[in-house]
Amino acid sequence: MLRNFGRSKLFNIFCSRNLYSSMAPKVLLTQILPPDSQKLIESAKDIELVYWDKTGAIPREKFLELAKGVDGILCMLTDKIDSELLDAAGPNLKVVSTMSVGYDHVDLSEFRKRSIPLGHTPGVLTDAVADITVLLVLAAARRIREGFRAVEKGEWIWSPTWMLGVQLTNKTIGIVGLGRIGSATALRLKPFIGNNGKIIYFGRVEKPIASSLGATKVEFDTLIRESDVICICCALNEETKEMFNYEVFKKMKSNVILVNTARGGIIRQDDLCRALSEGMLGSVGLDVVTPEPLNPNDPLLKFDKVTVVPHIGSGTLETRTMMANIAIENVLSGVRGETLPHAVEVNFDTK
Ligand code: NAP
Repeated sequence: MLRNFGRSKLFNIFCSRNLYSSMAPKVLLTQILPPDSQKLIESAKDIELVYWDKTGAIPREKFLELAKGVDGILCMLTDKIDSELLDAAGPNLKVVSTMSVGYDHVDLSEFRKRSIPLGHTPGVLTDAVADITVLLVLAAARRIREGFRAVEKGEWIWSPTWMLGVQLTNKTIGIVGLGRIGSATALRLKPFIGNNGKIIYFGRVEKPIASSLGATKVEFDTLIRESDVICICCALNEETKEMFNYEVFKKMKSNVILVNTARGGIIRQDDLCRALSEGMLGSVGLDVVTPEPLNPNDPLLKFDKVTVVPHIGSGTLETRTMMANIAIENVLSGVRGETLPHAVEVNFDTK
């Protein structure tokens, strides 16, 4: 059964149809899913589905209003899930399923307190995000943003010294967070650096996969001093929040390539702008920034050597469909009282 709150003309029709299904668990979906996944969730006969169908994140007030009394929520990384939202949903709430692997938008302590399971979508987006990470490394190394602009402005010349970038061969790649995405990124970058290149990584624990990648675990300080390319691939949490700040930028190589495809909050952005304005860092590639969406007048965009893409790391039809399908499985399992196939370890893991 379907209630669609974005299409106000249809609202009354759907609303009255749902009088017959008042016992069905109610699931709130905060954005329309890719076509096959949307069909899949709409075909679930044993739930009453309500969803927000406008493009972009559901406004907070609307979210609080529509969450009232629901049994399950299928949300996005743009939806803050905190005590206010959980209170608004009320005691019927049995599950929250986020269509993302990261869950820094969720207040885990509230889930722990209330014993509500949280679903997420690990694994299926690893390839897509690793691809974007490599794309940004290459774009930054080869000054692609400046190149595009030069073509468009009629400034294209050929000269032995014009628009020179950096070769990746023999370079040291530093991966911060050798998890699923970090290791897939290392694997992709390995052929670019060749046999004389090096991969180092920083994380909390030794990673078994490191040996097959030829990667060595180092201290954070070593990684930022020795890397020619730094890829930020870790989760955002209390420890990693703003771990890249002015003091850290000062220690980096002057021509370092810095790429962040994890979360904007891992970089203190004002400090990044300060470092860039003082001539530090070689070039920067960002899929994630603070805030999102970034204001077109943001100082960050004034630097030619910064390439920003709009958080499209997982943005392929195949990947978003797989993510949405997992998020559907999680929310349906939750409202049916079953174990979630892909649950965040709320009790033990505060990543
Ligand atoms: P994952 O396999 O869980 O990897 C997370 C990594 O973060 C682990 O290697 C972990 O290292 C590291 N980490 C966590 N806390 C740390 C700390 N305090 N210090 C150092 N390292 C720490 O997750 P994943 O699937 O690779 O995803 C990683 C992140 O990518 C997500 O959390 C999400 O924020 C981001 N992401 C972005 C996009 C996008 O569209 N741009 C898409 C998907 C995901 P240890 O194992 O050593 O603790």
